[in-house]
Amino acid sequence: MGIFSYKDVYVENGKRVLEVNILPEKYCNFDCIFCPIGRSQNKVDTQKSFDKMDSSLTELENMIDRTKAELVFINSKGEALVNQKIIDIINIIKGKGLPVKLLSNGYILNRPEYEKIANMCDEVIGEIKVSSNEDFQKIQRPIEGYTFEEHISNMKAFREQYKGKFILEVTIIKGYNDDEESVEKIKNIIEEISPGKLIIARIEDEIFKKKLGLSDERFNEISNKLQNI
Ligand code: SF4
Repeated sequence: MGIFSYKDVYVENGKRVLEVNILPEKYCNFDCIFCPIGRSQNKVDTQKSFDKMDSSLTELENMIDRTKAELVFINSKGEALVNQKIIDIINIIKGKGLPVKLLSNGYILNRPEYEKIANMCDEVIGEIKVSSNEDFQKIQRPIEGYTFEEHISNMKAFREQYKGKFILEVTIIKGYNDDEESVEKIKNIIEEISPGKLIIARIEDEIFKKKLGLSDERFNEISNKLQNI
């Protein structure tokens, strides 16, 4: 048994999607208060080697064959780029002739070693969940020295050189970035990053939804405003 875990295959845009987590436990450079995976005991932004990678890679190949996947989505328990074997993982998927979609919070996407890896993927998702550095520090609790301004400029720099589809996912959080001033700031950030696709989301996790979730009405209002940029 390897260390990867999988979701049941689903169809999106007419393609069978295999979603895979490539981390044994949470390894992230942030420690968001609303993280569905729990607390970050391992706040990292450098690559790590993990046990059982050979069996994990074989299992991935078998899963792709068995599920007849048409796209593999690397959506991990944290920042997938810190798995030292991520290039091998992408190569296995590519070797099967399949496109790869990668989820990252976006902060380290423009570091040369990670940019090279993300550039191997057909689609890359970056995320924004606040609209100020104060909230970034308060609710996303990143590695010391990280700033919200850099989060944005790092994604922008990645996007400017990336040939694939860059998807920006913006999460609107009650009490943090759902006021008019924040929405305006987010609008400007979206324009600055200029993603190939924009996803507007809200907190859906049952535990955090009550405190941080948006009403349908406010969510639709903000979504319409941002999607119409
Ligand atoms: S960036 Fe994602 S995985 Fe990392 S702590 Fe925040 S919610 Fe969790």
